[in-house]
Amino acid sequence: MVRHDVVVVGAGLAGMRAAIEASRYGVDVGVVSKLHPTRSHSGAAEGGINAALGNAGEDSPEKHTFFTVKGSDYLGDQDAIAVMCEEGPGDIYELEHMGAVFSRMEDGRIAQRPFGAGGAPRTAYAADITGHVLLHVLYEQLVKSGVTVYEEWFALDLVTDGDRCVGLTAWDLLRGGVQGIEAGAVIMATGGLGRIYRGTTNAYACTGDGMSMAWRAGVPLKDMEFMQFHPTTLKANGVLITEGCRGEGGYLRNAEGDRFMFNYAPNAGELASRDVVSRSEQTEIDEGRGVDGCVLLDLTHLGARKIMTVLHGSRELAMDYAGVDPIEEPIPVRPGSHYHMGGIDADMWGRTVMPGLYAAGECACVSVHGANRLGGNSLLETVVFGRRSGAAAAQDVRGNGSRAIFSPSAVRVAERRIRRLLYNFDGVRPHVLREQLADTMYENAGIFRTAERLDRCKADVHELRERYSDGMGVVIQDKSRTFNSDLIQALELGSMIQMADCLVTGAVARTESRGAHSRLDYPERDDENWLRHTLTSYDDGAVALDYKPVTITEHQPAVRTY
Ligand SMILES: Cc1cc2nc3c(=O)[nH]c(=O)nc-3n(C[C@H](O)[C@H](O)[C@H](O)COP(=O)(O)OP(=O)(O)OC[C@H]3O[C@@H](n4cnc5c(N)ncnc54)[C@H](O)[C@@H]3O)c2cc1C
Repeated sequence: MVRHDVVVVGAGLAGMRAAIEASRYGVDVGVVSKLHPTRSHSGAAEGGINAALGNAGEDSPEKHTFFTVKGSDYLGDQDAIAVMCEEGPGDIYELEHMGAVFSRMEDGRIAQRPFGAGGAPRTAYAADITGHVLLHVLYEQLVKSGVTVYEEWFALDLVTDGDRCVGLTAWDLLRGGVQGIEAGAVIMATGGLGRIYRGTTNAYACTGDGMSMAWRAGVPLKDMEFMQFHPTTLKANGVLITEGCRGEGGYLRNAEGDRFMFNYAPNAGELASRDVVSRSEQTEIDEGRGVDGCVLLDLTHLGARKIMTVLHGSRELAMDYAGVDPIEEPIPVRPGSHYHMGGIDADMWGRTVMPGLYAAGECACVSVHGANRLGGNSLLETVVFGRRSGAAAAQDVRGNGSRAIFSPSAVRVAERRIRRLLYNFDGVRPHVLREQLADTMYENAGIFRTAERLDRCKADVHELRERYSDGMGVVIQDKSRTFNSDLIQALELGSMIQMADCLVTGAVARTESRGAHSRLDYPERDDENWLRHTLTSYDDGAVALDYKPVTITEHQPAVRTY
């Protein structure tokens, strides 16, 4: 059993930023992560991080706010968006002072490139390895802050006393065995769930564990039906080619060589919002103007020098995984599942409805992305709301005289469950169900949705839930207790099925098209009935739906064109 004032679950950008901030308040902080911190998915971010620095063109936090609200298809909460956009520049300068080496303009100021639907060149970057740079800088700060890191500990369940969160249980991968972690406050920062889809840009570990822990503990999840498909991913393995390629002037062409985006977004062209570009590409492919299920990302006119300096990583990815050198020829790309807008319902300080439980980063829904996220806004969200939730949790711990108790029986219950899983000899291998889940999500809850396909998906997910049978339907071949990745995959599968159920249940109910949720049977946005957030709650293993209003301050919903 270990104890800390504040425990952060997850060591990506959001988790590390939260931990660093909490430690500044003088409280004792621990971080639990199933991966070594610098292996978190944040490290894969390529294109950059938004903030209205105004270095490459006229910009302001107000403009950033407006374009984020519009990008969200008016589902984002405008008070939270304004906070993110106002505080963003300060967070960028802080990252720089911590040691982040951003790419520069000739005059030495931080360079900024345009990203889709942003309305200004606002995306600061470190070539095309921005996430890698930021993650390492925050890790240095984390080490310096003296925070205790429990790496390769897999969080299992939240532990509550009455209505308060008092900690969690975790499986120690290296030594084997369940650990109890008592906490004055817990911050969930466990990232996204992209792996529930086939052909995703997300790392193998993006399985929605933290969201499902909160959900099972009775905390509602918000806007789960909104999954973003990124327009430029490689066919072979879903690897992302950054939006920075279009930001630097890359073209999208169909099989006939046409820059088709201007037929769909006459003003913004390739730099329309991601939902619009992905749908346009899919339409080109579906109508027979694709190339082997892809469209072409053409960078050849940018010249070798530019590609080699600011898009070097993308060139390597294209050469390694598509066998194409973008200096010479276009890269075949297609839309792939990328970012999950929904998550644990949290406010601007990361607070959830459960006292003592906070959430930040991709696992949270604050909501600053609404129905569609703008590229570059997610990295910003992790540092702004990571910082704010760290501060709020630390103050909460210092201020609360809670006598809530962590019952050691929670550890025994978890230990019994793991033993049952390990010594089950009947069922299929976890990867079988995992692949079936990813297939049905991709086929039936993808870019274009209909009632028929979503119902099929929901039926498939429920069948998989039955077959998984709380883990007793899968066989873990490795029976050892140390570094058992087979066991971890079986546990992750449970979260993935639950989160797929929340996503598809929300999607079936939402009979409109908004942002990334595009229904062929309900093609219009319907503000009268659907300008509201979906809440999905745990109801004895099933998903219960509820709704809550969107916060609108300055920008009344308007028709969204690019
Ligand atoms: C390929 C790619 C490129 C991207 N590029 C950009 C970009 O250029 N700009 C932008 O703004 N956004 C980008 N995004 C999105 C952005 O990177 C992510 O949304 C963001 O980094 C998520 O950060 P996070 O801290 O919330 O989660 P993550 O970085 O995913 O970290 C999650 C952490 O939770 C831990 N964890 C998870 N489950 C458990 C568990 N059960 N027990 C213990 N620990 C657990 C993991 O170990 C990890 O440390 C990109 C995403 C991808 C996939």
